[in-house]
Amino acid sequence: MSFNAFGAQGASTGRDVQEFLRAARERSDAQYRMKAEPDEFSEERLEGITGPDRRWSWIEVDLSAIRNNVAVAKRRLTPGCRLMAVVKANGYGHGAVAVARTALSAGAAQIAVATVNEGVELREAGIEAPILVLSEPPATAAPVLLAYNLMPSVYTAEFAIAYAEEADAHGLRAPFHLAVNTGMNRIGVRFDEAVDFLRQISFHRALVQEGTFTHFATADCAETLDFNMQFRRFKETIAAIRAMGINPGLVHCANSAALLRYPETHMDMARLGISMYGFHPCPETRGRFDLRPAMSVHARITAINMPPMSEGVSYGMNYRSPGSVKICAIPIGYADGYARALSGRASVVYDGHLCRQVGNICMDQCMFEVDLRSYGTHRRLDPQVGDEVLLVGAQGGAAVSIEDIADMLGTIPHEVCCALSARMPKVYLR
Ligand SMILES: *Cc1c(COP(=O)(O)O)cnc(C)c1O
Repeated sequence: MSFNAFGAQGASTGRDVQEFLRAARERSDAQYRMKAEPDEFSEERLEGITGPDRRWSWIEVDLSAIRNNVAVAKRRLTPGCRLMAVVKANGYGHGAVAVARTALSAGAAQIAVATVNEGVELREAGIEAPILVLSEPPATAAPVLLAYNLMPSVYTAEFAIAYAEEADAHGLRAPFHLAVNTGMNRIGVRFDEAVDFLRQISFHRALVQEGTFTHFATADCAETLDFNMQFRRFKETIAAIRAMGINPGLVHCANSAALLRYPETHMDMARLGISMYGFHPCPETRGRFDLRPAMSVHARITAINMPPMSEGVSYGMNYRSPGSVKICAIPIGYADGYARALSGRASVVYDGHLCRQVGNICMDQCMFEVDLRSYGTHRRLDPQVGDEVLLVGAQGGAAVSIEDIADMLGTIPHEVCCALSARMPKVYLR
């Protein structure tokens, strides 16, 4: 994307302004209306004014990075193992539809989401690949699952029967994946009760067990005791299901960390989440896999102040100007996922340099500081309204990563990505 400083607002030359003022003076007050007629501005024109032209902050998602990361995972996979692209929470904030399409075209076989509505969104966008909902929805959602051909995870008999009955009433199959709790103790039928559970629901002929899966709590941790126990329990459960003559369908357990670290967990399918977006699940995979972050966060400077020394900036005035600084405002705040807890700790990239974010981050805006004195080998920076700033991204040797922000907040990249996408429009690079 490229704008010149005021391009987004439409350039007006001095002469245009003069003519406009003359015409306005000749109009009588009565000729002005307070409100536009419906359709006075064509829908086409208004729709042409998109995200960054309406507010100077946006997220860029580099789909070639997603393609690269899917290819990295595919190269690592055991031959014959399918890849499931996890696009829950709007594709970890990257946009579920665009990510799902990109992942499928790069070789993913299936899609996973967290909620029924996330599945519906993908179907309405025309995605036809199998979609798994990673938890069991309420039984009341059964008609939606069937109407949109979404597979639920199953772990209660109540849901399984209600889902099967609804399907049966329409002469439809009711495909599902059995979720097995092997020790994370979140969802799933407990590993040693899986066989009994399947026996309990097996009378219903509409049900089709398309898959069986579990989820690791510690595949990203240095300590492997719990991981090994979960994996052993899962393999034993699959063997027991087979021994009772039931086909478990596609067997899967690997998340990004297990996919990259433990090839023995690949089985029939592996579920790629965070690493598809370019993040390492743990320090150990760094340097071993060429993952590229797809998300960068951009804004343009909307206002500049030069407060005299000792004047404060933002709510609470926790920061005071040392003098000789420009305080630049950008339209990103904590409602955009730029957490208030980052106040005075984060940096932004301006003109190839790291600049300190200063003052409390507001709901919709925040400020950063540009030192106007030349110091060391630095060239003097001279920010102007309309100049682009990176809140996440790299330029001229200066960089801020999602991981940097996650570390400052004591959290993981997953949470930062999801939060950043709450309100900002996304621009896709292909
Ligand atoms: C979110 C999720 C994944 C993806 O995990 P990553 O660590 O992001 O790769 C896989 N499986 C289940 C059940 C999940 O909920």
